[in-house]
Amino acid sequence: MSFSQLGLSEKVLAAVAGAGYTAPTPIQEQAIPHVLSRRDVLGIAQTGTGKTAAFVLPMLTMLEQGRARARMPRTLILEPTRELAAQVEESFVKYGAKQKLNVALIIGGVSFDDQDSKLMRGVDVLIATPGRLLDHHERGRLLLTGVELLVIDEADRMLDMGFIPDIERICKLVPFTRQTLFFTATMPAEIQHITEQFLHTPVRVEVSRPASTVATTTQLLVKTGREPREKRETLRHFIRTAENLKNGIIFCNRKREVALLHRSLLKHGFSAIALHGDMDQSARTAALDQFRKNEVTLLVASDVAARGLDIPDVSHVFNFDVPHHADDYVHRIGRTGRAGRSGVAISIVAPIDQKLVASIEKLIGQTIPWVDGPPPASDEPARPRSRHERNERSERTGRGRRPERSERTERSERTERSPSTPAQPERVAPDAAPAALAPPASPHQPQPDRRQRNENSFDPAHLPAFLMRPVRLKA
Ligand code: AMP
Repeated sequence: MSFSQLGLSEKVLAAVAGAGYTAPTPIQEQAIPHVLSRRDVLGIAQTGTGKTAAFVLPMLTMLEQGRARARMPRTLILEPTRELAAQVEESFVKYGAKQKLNVALIIGGVSFDDQDSKLMRGVDVLIATPGRLLDHHERGRLLLTGVELLVIDEADRMLDMGFIPDIERICKLVPFTRQTLFFTATMPAEIQHITEQFLHTPVRVEVSRPASTVATTTQLLVKTGREPREKRETLRHFIRTAENLKNGIIFCNRKREVALLHRSLLKHGFSAIALHGDMDQSARTAALDQFRKNEVTLLVASDVAARGLDIPDVSHVFNFDVPHHADDYVHRIGRTGRAGRSGVAISIVAPIDQKLVASIEKLIGQTIPWVDGPPPASDEPARPRSRHERNERSERTGRGRRPERSERTERSERTERSPSTPAQPERVAPDAAPAALAPPASPHQPQPDRRQRNENSFDPAHLPAFLMRPVRLKA
């Protein structure tokens, strides 16, 4: 099938040709005609499948008609991270060069005022992270009642980051009659529930089995000792001896490890930069830019910072740590071998990691070869994780986990005051009981403001079951 058979406008077809695409990818082929016929779409697709263009191209076609009004965006795209939001904006620049559309990016970590003046001018496409979007809405600077099309991208990632309550709120703020395009790589029960609630008889488009790896990536396992020093030595050896290494992403399980490894690589003369959730937004953007422009060869990253990023043409992925969750492995190695290119993914495996490797192999349905033959069968029992490791892990991956600091910053920014808003006195005494223990508020009582809700209250509907179990207190 060719792009011209999908119903896209002439301008969009010209932009596609300009991008050098000869044929639509399966998700584009299956989703675009339905989007253009105004159906809701549930797309199950990972990054790297061309899913961004699957919604951007028909949106550009549809937006050729009509005009935006001040503070009332015509379409809204929700992304879990600032980097992904910025990436989608780039797609509009790339494919929409021939159209005069107003595209605004509403993300945390940058000035409210610039965003506000953009909203004031009228926006055809609003690309936002949920927290900052709600902030603008709560300040009365943004009306969502004109949204004709809503895109929820990377929904399973939103779930991991604890954004689902925000998504639910936003879905209720946009008109019931809007069109919704919903993309997710996996379909856990919580996501299934959201789709049932907010999509109207959607067309389901599934392009590859969730958790599949691409055939163009060569996967390898490498034995190493259990000490970080040994792992670093092994890594250096494989970077130095890797064939055709153009550039590579090195994944660590913990942000502290990212910083340590980054320093060590610099000390050993490698060209490397770090990307993790504790860096501020400008440092993250600068790191990614340097890596994209090939000004540095190696990007040392944590999963949270790097998931879903489209960095074309990465030749190598190194797993300095085997990920604790098998699906993270799939996301990590999906950074290479993109758009039909070849790639290499090397995982450094300490004796203690062998169980993790087994669960990865089970998930991807294949055995990953060892570079120098398999290690001798280990009877070393799995080392119990330290409390620190457990904390880091649950912070990073757990459903409803505490988001990383930058994510927390993004969410808590909703509670920041804009420079123009006078300081509000706290309405709750510091020793006030948490709302969950207090009697329910009557509908006529003033509702606590967002800051108080965030810090002092629990929504029982979202309380994990273990918190509701009775506990015995020591005398
Ligand atoms: P995505 O899944 O949206 O992150 O896209 C992955 C990569 O595929 C991006 O670098 C796109 O530029 C590229 N891409 C998207 N559509 C096509 C296409 N039809 N042909 C070739 N490459 C594409």
